[in-house]
Amino acid sequence: MKKMSPTLSGIVLGAVGMLVVVSLLAANYADTSANDSTSQVVEDREVYYPGTEELAPDEMRVIACGTGMPNARPKQAAACWLVELGNGDKFLFDIGTGSAERISALKIPYNLIDKVFLGHLHSDHFGDLDALWIGGVVANRVVPLRVWGPSSLEPKYGTKAALEHLEKSLAWDIDTRVGNTDTRGLFLEVTEFDYRKVNQVIYQENGVTIRTIPAIHIFDGPVSFLLEWNGLKFAYSSDTFPNKWWMEYALDSDIAIHESFISPESLIEKQNFTPEAALNVGTQIHTSPAQFGKVMAATKPRLAVAYHFFNDFDTVQPILRDIRMTYDGPLALATDYMVFNITKDDIRVRMAAIDEDIWPQPSTIPLLPPDASMRRTALSQEMRDGRVVHRDVLETVYAYINEKFGSNVKLPE
Ligand SMILES: [Zn+2]
Ligand SMILES: [Zn+2]
Repeated sequence: MKKMSPTLSGIVLGAVGMLVVVSLLAANYADTSANDSTSQVVEDREVYYPGTEELAPDEMRVIACGTGMPNARPKQAAACWLVELGNGDKFLFDIGTGSAERISALKIPYNLIDKVFLGHLHSDHFGDLDALWIGGVVANRVVPLRVWGPSSLEPKYGTKAALEHLEKSLAWDIDTRVGNTDTRGLFLEVTEFDYRKVNQVIYQENGVTIRTIPAIHIFDGPVSFLLEWNGLKFAYSSDTFPNKWWMEYALDSDIAIHESFISPESLIEKQNFTPEAALNVGTQIHTSPAQFGKVMAATKPRLAVAYHFFNDFDTVQPILRDIRMTYDGPLALATDYMVFNITKDDIRVRMAAIDEDIWPQPSTIPLLPPDASMRRTALSQEMRDGRVVHRDVLETVYAYINEKFGSNVKLPE
């Protein structure tokens, strides 16, 4: 067992990981406020402030951008994990509904978030792809969005078909933006790979290799991912029942993120499932906490991360009880904005402090002014005739902007 930071030890030993982290935060604030010197700088941060920490060349940072369930809730978005590497590369694994908001809070220029790997096509794993794709363009991404996802038994269930239809459904959105903003990032580059292949390489660039193994989840198509770089191994299940491929290929991961669904009793008590439905969904379609423990006991990651449950004071007790029946190794019970810094010697787990008033970061590539000749859409004469033009007010606005920013934009006739 490699050395763990005090924060991780706290989470492993604590009955409720979140409470431990929160109490550490509270202690930190209390220390700062008790000291009346304004010059004190706290060096050893127990909190991750996005945009303030360079990764070491050999370091991996993983951030939970969605750890919840298909049910929407403010505290937890659906599945999404960001992996950042010391070589500058960044990868998203799944982008479930609500996760784009979490991604925005990390203060990363959108040009750098251009690679998304989909484990399967449930909306709680790709429901915010449109928000990242189109929203990313509006938020200054000027490079295409690259998406990798699995095939299925029939083409209509594959990633390519899903994203072709997504693009069609967004025709009005896409065409109204062309010519009105810099839309170089509107292109979607989709790579569909064979879900059945075992340990297949789907990405290999810049010293990073990403492989897939089949996952078992309701119907053919789902996969799990293995990312290897610089001697570090990240394994992500997306959704899966325990399976032989994970047992073989996720072995000895540095960080293994695997689904551990809400316990069957919580499905009955919180979601009004019948016992039969709760046992089917909670132990057959998904991996239950006790099964998660078995998987981790057999594969022995340096840190096991359980996700895909609502992480509350009352749900976490049966989950931890069931995991601990079968696994006593290093464990984190994920919630949104949990941050993992991983090197060969250490794994540090913290929570991120989020600025809710976030704005998009500037583009890393200069933006181009809108090219009106590119416009695909225009108001019909009938709609144009309906406009009420306050020309005097608009002249004032144009004059003010031109003076303040040194521009010379003419008010349209
Ligand atoms: Zn699923
Ligand atoms: Zn899921």
